Amino acid sequence: MENKLSFYNTLTRKVEQFIPNEDGRVSMYTCGPTVYHYAHIGNLRSYIVEDLLEKTLRYLGYHVKRVMNITDVGHLSSDADTGEDKMLKGAKREHKTVLEIAKFYTDAFFKDCQKLNIKKPDVVEPATNCISEFIHMIEVLIEKGYAYESGGNIYFDTAKLEEYYVFSSQSEKELLVGVRDDVEADENKKNKSDFVLWFTKSKFEDQELKWESPWGVGYPGWHIECSCISMKHLGESMDIHCGGVDNIFPHHTNEIAQSEAYIGHKWCNYWFHVNHLNDKSGKMSKSNGEFLTVSLLEAKGYDPRAYRLFCLQSHYRKPLEFSYEALDNIAAAYDKLIKKVGMLKNEGEICQSDFDSYKAKFEAALCDDLNSAMAITVLYDMLKDELSDCTKYALAKSFDEVLSLDLTTAYATREADNGVDEEFESYILTKIEERKAAKKEKDFAKADAIRNELLEKGILLEDTREGVKWRKA
Ligand code: AMP
Ligand code: ZN
Repeated sequence: MENKLSFYNTLTRKVEQFIPNEDGRVSMYTCGPTVYHYAHIGNLRSYIVEDLLEKTLRYLGYHVKRVMNITDVGHLSSDADTGEDKMLKGAKREHKTVLEIAKFYTDAFFKDCQKLNIKKPDVVEPATNCISEFIHMIEVLIEKGYAYESGGNIYFDTAKLEEYYVFSSQSEKELLVGVRDDVEADENKKNKSDFVLWFTKSKFEDQELKWESPWGVGYPGWHIECSCISMKHLGESMDIHCGGVDNIFPHHTNEIAQSEAYIGHKWCNYWFHVNHLNDKSGKMSKSNGEFLTVSLLEAKGYDPRAYRLFCLQSHYRKPLEFSYEALDNIAAAYDKLIKKVGMLKNEGEICQSDFDSYKAKFEAALCDDLNSAMAITVLYDMLKDELSDCTKYALAKSFDEVLSLDLTTAYATREADNGVDEEFESYILTKIEERKAAKKEKDFAKADAIRNELLEKGILLEDTREGVKWRKA
């Protein structure tokens, strides 16, 4: 790889050059959503940035395999092992079964992702698909002396590890601030930081999803699912594990504890975390009742891709504050940007040296700790520069492999939907005339090239008896 990608590794607390285990191939795991409600736009900030990371890796030439779980069991409201079961809470709220809730919100999640141009991971696996794998891992942990039974549940014994708080030199007390304090202490635990691998003594009388296990009928803890699902698809050594910063403790800390105890060696080299989207009152969260969704933004007239641009304009390691004023500004910038790219004339020869030089600048920005705001500045600089239209167009198309803002097609498809902008319509009509002339001169290659050029912008030409007609592709 010519360009050396660096990003912040939470494990080493440094911006590090990324070197995968296997040359040219990357295994990547993402903690998926807990599907008891819609994803809010804060959750989706994390998935937009993880999508940016995956697409940057692909752009640089890596072959990426990305796996995501769907949490449909075991996630309690405190992130530790206390509080309400989130799925059960969702099912009660909507008078549905847990599985109905899981299906509905999993579909809703991927619909939102599609609107934000977030690529679906190569493998998506719901936790409830993998119960036998969880049971196997827990059996091995018990055999190796890392887990114990107490009060009917199986716990991981954190005292058996040389180092449990791998992500931080902070004290245990400081870390536990992240875990809500309105939850009862679990008398069964040997150490305060121990966590549940398998619940057989359900606190929830009406727990719907339960499975047979060697320790009685019950259900898995939350953390075990990510260890098992990632190993099932990516093997026992992995390159990158992603999530929001709230996942660092306890979720990722516990994942490392149980995974490395199970395999007996280092598990994942790079831990990538995205900082939070906040509103004026603090971290956006699902449990706070009212929350912002993609559908709500759409209902207010925003293009979801403007929200994607909003996220890409900030650095992933900094908290981002959401406000409608800020989104208004970005939405206006997005409209201008797609118009500028949409009006470029994609004809003639690309200047290779201009192309290469801007591509290199774009890659350099991304390689510098995923500086997407700088990558967008490179895009603006390129559009302002005195390059030929077709070179600009080719660069915008290339950059869009990572940015995923539909730079070359959004304007045309929007205009075709609205059918308003005269400037764009007259451009299409000129192209239709040029194509007619080319056909008359039997220059079919040129005629086809014009047809394809319009198609790339989302416009389809149809030859009918009444003449050439155009519509949205
Ligand atoms: P959940 O559906 O609650 O399991 O969360 C899904 C993902 O969203 C996790 O990776 C969380 O770390 C992340 N997340 C939760 N809240 C926020 C927020 N306000 N901003 C950014 N990411 C978040
Ligand atoms: Zn996880």
